[in-house]
Amino acid sequence: MKERIILLGPPASGKGTQASRMSKAFGIPHVSTGALLRSEASLGTELGREADRWTRGGSLVPDGLVIRVVGDWIAANGPRFLFDGFPRTVGQAKSLDELLRDVSAPLDLVILLELDPVEIRGRIMDRLTCRGCGETYGGSLHGLENGGSCPTCGGKLARRSDDTEDVLAERLRAYCESTLPVVAHYESTNPGILHRVDAAQGSDAIYSVLSALVDWEMQKAE
Ligand code: AMP
Repeated sequence: MKERIILLGPPASGKGTQASRMSKAFGIPHVSTGALLRSEASLGTELGREADRWTRGGSLVPDGLVIRVVGDWIAANGPRFLFDGFPRTVGQAKSLDELLRDVSAPLDLVILLELDPVEIRGRIMDRLTCRGCGETYGGSLHGLENGGSCPTCGGKLARRSDDTEDVLAERLRAYCESTLPVVAHYESTNPGILHRVDAAQGSDAIYSVLSALVDWEMQKAE
């Protein structure tokens, strides 16, 4: 079974939803650098305050800060992970290559969720995030409202402060400029490791493709 996995994709391509579902099914820790940075910011740590200066405007947090967070996470938890939203630059990808080389734990799988900008915008403008458990929902799809209760944990649903038109434009620019080159990095350094998946499909259809990539034997047995 694959246990060092990266999920790449633009905002709202379903990385978080799929990572959380796969993490429950396969027991691999789900690591969202966005969530780790938001948690540092809400704790008011120096790192969190610094990161918040960048995330608020939709810009990428500098590589050094992100690598520190990820390096600490791997040191504390070991090299089994489902990264959601990391690496987002070629510099981060190279640092991760080095971190994994140091612990002799090569990457197993990179998945790219592809979605067009019109669909991305529609999903972001409709997205509600639970302040309690972090689960996300399409508001109109699930009949939920800003300020309502999370169907999973009962926490309060809210729009993320960076889920706005202006900030989305900057996030998409950063994705095209900095994150798409990460795809070329893996295709050239690790041929065959990257798989492209159409993220416009329904969540269940995407999940069955992804889980077969993670563990083909397990899927055949079900
Ligand atoms: P996300 O929750 O993945 O949408 O990330 C929210 C924000 O956190 C992004 O817009 C960035 O500002 C920041 N962020 C998350 N992960 C990274 C990363 N790997 N590199 C740089 N910035 C990041």
